[in-house]
Amino acid sequence: MASVTFEHLTKTYPNGFVSVNDVNLTVEDGEFVVFHGPSGCGKSTILRMVGGLEDITSGKIWLGKELLNDILPRDRRLAMAFQNYTLYKHFNVYDNMALGLRLRDLPRNVIDSRVKSAASLLGITGVLDKKLRAISDAEKQRVALGRAIVCQPKVLLVDEDFARQNDDRRHEMISDILKINERLGITVLYVTNDYDEVCALNKKTVFMKEGKIVEVRDNPGQTEKIQSEKI
Ligand code: ADP
Repeated sequence: MASVTFEHLTKTYPNGFVSVNDVNLTVEDGEFVVFHGPSGCGKSTILRMVGGLEDITSGKIWLGKELLNDILPRDRRLAMAFQNYTLYKHFNVYDNMALGLRLRDLPRNVIDSRVKSAASLLGITGVLDKKLRAISDAEKQRVALGRAIVCQPKVLLVDEDFARQNDDRRHEMISDILKINERLGITVLYVTNDYDEVCALNKKTVFMKEGKIVEVRDNPGQTEKIQSEKI
């Protein structure tokens, strides 16, 4: 597992727009940190730079003692739960989850134990041998999360669209991610522009505006509660 540190992190797009402006922050090893702010404030850009989907204009991102700037996206020990996850519909659930591990040539017994323990954590053991088309959307999302965690990432990046895909079971999705953080100790960076969600999660929250951090609160849900009790 690992901490994530941003040092003067800045993103300027080719058109000159500064989307992330001198962000400094340390997310401790195993922490669950929420990034919140209005649409367009730079939250996803930060996540995309961590994941290597976006170049860093200036500044540094550290994963523990490793400087991420110099590490190819595929070699970063990160998992991303973004909206457009790809599952292979002709494969069964087990094979979808095992794919990344097979590509790394891991021994069959290691793959088997990792897939089964991730499936058990996410409550999808019963569908491991089912084809993708035979499972629900909610289960598909769990398969996507399972595939991410079998690779034993140090950090899980969650974009708000991932949870929003399925509003009906957004709570379950969030509780799956909380479970991954608590039981496996994986550091989570979670982006949302939904303030109710910030309060419900009640985790350390980084409030952003126009590319900058404006405030960091440890228990935003607690603050909200105290304020409503005062009224
Ligand atoms: P958030 O996740 O907080 O909604 P983003 O990080 O996605 O915001 O985007 C931050 C800002 O950067 C937005 O104003 C967006 O329009 C702008 N932006 C994103 N991609 C580009 C691009 N390729 N060129 C110029 N501006 C961009």
